[in-house]
Amino acid sequence: MQQQNPESLTHPVTPLKRKSPMRLILAAALLPLFGMVTAYGIAPDTDTRDIPVQTLIENLALPQVTAMPGQAAQVFHHEEKVLPGETLGALLTRLGVSPQDNALLLRQSAAQIGRSLRSGQRVQAVVSENGGLMELLVTAPDGSLKRISRQAEGFVLDQSEAALETRIVMRSGRIDSSLFAATDAANLPDSVATKMAEIFGTQLDFREDLRRGDTFSVVYEMDYRNGEPTGTGRILSTEYVNAGKAYRAVLYRTPSGEAEYYTPDGESLKKGFLRSPLEFSRITSSFSNSRKHPVYGFHRRHTGTDFGAPTGARVKAVGDAVVSFAGRKGGYGNLVILRHNNGYETYYAHLNGFAKGIRRGTSVEQGRIIGYVGMTGTATGPHLHYEVRIGGRPRNPVTVKLPGSPPLPVAQRARFNEQTAAWTQRLDQLRGTNLAALD
Ligand SMILES: [Zn+2]
Repeated sequence: MQQQNPESLTHPVTPLKRKSPMRLILAAALLPLFGMVTAYGIAPDTDTRDIPVQTLIENLALPQVTAMPGQAAQVFHHEEKVLPGETLGALLTRLGVSPQDNALLLRQSAAQIGRSLRSGQRVQAVVSENGGLMELLVTAPDGSLKRISRQAEGFVLDQSEAALETRIVMRSGRIDSSLFAATDAANLPDSVATKMAEIFGTQLDFREDLRRGDTFSVVYEMDYRNGEPTGTGRILSTEYVNAGKAYRAVLYRTPSGEAEYYTPDGESLKKGFLRSPLEFSRITSSFSNSRKHPVYGFHRRHTGTDFGAPTGARVKAVGDAVVSFAGRKGGYGNLVILRHNNGYETYYAHLNGFAKGIRRGTSVEQGRIIGYVGMTGTATGPHLHYEVRIGGRPRNPVTVKLPGSPPLPVAQRARFNEQTAAWTQRLDQLRGTNLAALD
């Protein structure tokens, strides 16, 4: 979408008085527009056509923008979206730019600006009382910015890459009904709420353990482009107070570059077993040495825990493991057996189906989806039958001592404290806010 003013082609001399000859200047400095602007160094052998940020100044005489005596020049800010098929000239007119400046700009920069115009794109202009263009801002779809500004020597075009920045956001709240109701009320994005539930996944089952009056605090990163939020980043620290007991996690980057969550005391939260192999579930039948079997009607030992969940709900590996069985097995129906370290095994039964790649010998990471809830085998309705066995003996998954993971090495203690102290402190501040909110 470009447009040349036909008049400027046939009449190369504008009616305006030209103050200096037209020339091109590569400007050295960039003007930061919104926050940070990426700066580029140009190596001596750089092909100048590839310089990503450049400034062209075409010196054209500009009409004087005069202010009334004793009165500051008044400027107007306009913002418009590019209409389908709209030319640059038509857009400038809608933005209140005078015909003179419109023609001047078209002659000078039509190619550079017009090329980057897309329907629906935002364009902002600062225009003087008499239509003189003071500044034009075009945000390209990739977030880069083109800025035309009126300067003494003429219109100056400079371009900068999208201004990317990461901000730290703190949120806290209190549970009244559900986790997501509370996080919504606290204006916490769902993706952050889900991450928080994952971080505490080895300590809390967010469906089962949630209590009214529980509080949470989260310190997390938020990505911005040109001042507008584009996505959430990592959680740096978080606290969940469940029935009066506080759980805390801080992000720590090991010398080898792995980022993992620890308690502020240096206990790893990553390893061990998840509290639940399902994202959201409730226990419908507990481990028992004698219960009335729902199908057979007689009393027999229930060797695991049943989690009520709809058909198709995703089943996760509770810990790092190797698949030792994936197939059909009697009353278990479709069954996955995982072999973990230290003689631990976990069973996932009645599955509707197996996740892709899950077969005997497959290595799985904690949290990987291994299958989907169903009612194959002996089951009255869709649910997950989950077992934990140690040395081949079934144990109660809810009370069994689950395998831990090594705490932070002493040698990394100082590094850990240096990285995490500030984020732990933020949690203390947020805790204060929460208590105040409850009073
Ligand atoms: Zn069962």
